[in-house]
Amino acid sequence: MSESKLKPILPAANPPAWLGVMGGGQLGRMFAQAAQAMGYQVAVLEPSQDCPAGQVAQRLVNADYSDAAGLDALAAQCAAVTTEFENVPADSLSRLAQTVFVAPDGHGVSVAQDRVAEKRFFVSCAPKSGVLPAPHKVIAAQEDIDAISDDLLPGILKTVRMGYDGKGQVRVKSRADVQAAFESMGKVTCLLEKMLPLAYEVSVLTARGHDGESVVYPIAENVHRDGILFTTTVPGPNVSEESALKAQKAAQAIVAELGYVGVLCIEFFVLTDGSLVVNEMAPRPHNSGHYTIDACVTSQFEQQVRAMARLPLGDVRQHSAAVMLNILGDVWFEGDRDDAREPAWHEILALPGANLHLYGKDDPRRARKMGHLTFIAPTLEQAQQQLNAACAVLGIAA
Ligand code: ATP
Ligand code: MG
Repeated sequence: MSESKLKPILPAANPPAWLGVMGGGQLGRMFAQAAQAMGYQVAVLEPSQDCPAGQVAQRLVNADYSDAAGLDALAAQCAAVTTEFENVPADSLSRLAQTVFVAPDGHGVSVAQDRVAEKRFFVSCAPKSGVLPAPHKVIAAQEDIDAISDDLLPGILKTVRMGYDGKGQVRVKSRADVQAAFESMGKVTCLLEKMLPLAYEVSVLTARGHDGESVVYPIAENVHRDGILFTTTVPGPNVSEESALKAQKAAQAIVAELGYVGVLCIEFFVLTDGSLVVNEMAPRPHNSGHYTIDACVTSQFEQQVRAMARLPLGDVRQHSAAVMLNILGDVWFEGDRDDAREPAWHEILALPGANLHLYGKDDPRRARKMGHLTFIAPTLEQAQQQLNAACAVLGIAA
């Protein structure tokens, strides 16, 4: 008997039900926009007053992520609750789950929050997923540093919790480097990962429904700059069909093992010898999946709505080649000047296939994600050409 036949099937939550989201950032904003387009009402729980998602949601519950009264208000109003960032306290999701359907659940989120739990989980899935993470070792005390084997160096020391956009990471060549880095990070538990020879980086976006059915989007190829996602190109120009299929199958095996409901994105490395290594997962829509808004039949945000509302998952078909460029606060500043000016959006929007998404943040700062641009075109070459033209307008080295 299939898994779906064993689980009780909750009825769908149809519009105009309320859907709740933990977190008020840009992912929550784009989620709210997708939900509202389908006729849902959206409530956001977020401690800050003016936030990207709060600007568009019908209700903003201004409360800390672990505030019991705030959580109970969200649960009482909503037919289902989701999260837009992985550092939401897993206990908060568990509290919500006592009275409302929560997707993803606290378990999936807690595994993704903790690099040690995540690596263990990936290793445990390997017989089914066919992929392993990078060789690694937990560094929690001096003895662990003394016991580092030579083949883990050079490596990257990463904090176990709260890392994002390359923050909480130090590249290390020797045990002395590890020691210094461990001390500089306040001796919090870290993970030492062997530095691998990357040919390129890819991500796979999947969604799994309450009934155990899952869908998988085309493979995306990601370029990072200074630890932050710079561009996503889909279909990935360097990815062989074999690697793409392997990564897609691995992602579906991983979400099934996790018993996950909702959208989840898995990052993989493709090494110079062509082999595939699983890096990390995000239990939510992902920056590398933003292209789905403009280039796929069902966006990753609509897919999250469908999964949490127990609706059938949508068609993941990509109808146009796509290149996504993150827009950081840097483009508001000319050279080293510190007075911000608005970029020439009218020139960007004159380019064929341009889709501009700005997140409503009124305080541009360097390295802050302010929005993104997706170029869609019949061919990848055309989309890339428009992206290059946009980079020239924005003063970004393409
Ligand atoms: P984000 O949340 O923005 O995806 P992060 O801060 O959680 O990033 P990782 O994705 O683990 O951290 O690492 C950031 C980048 O560092 C990777 O995209 C990759 O370019 C590089 N990197 C990480 N681990 C390794 C490794 N073991 N070998 C080589 N490069 C690595
Ligand atoms: Mg990453």
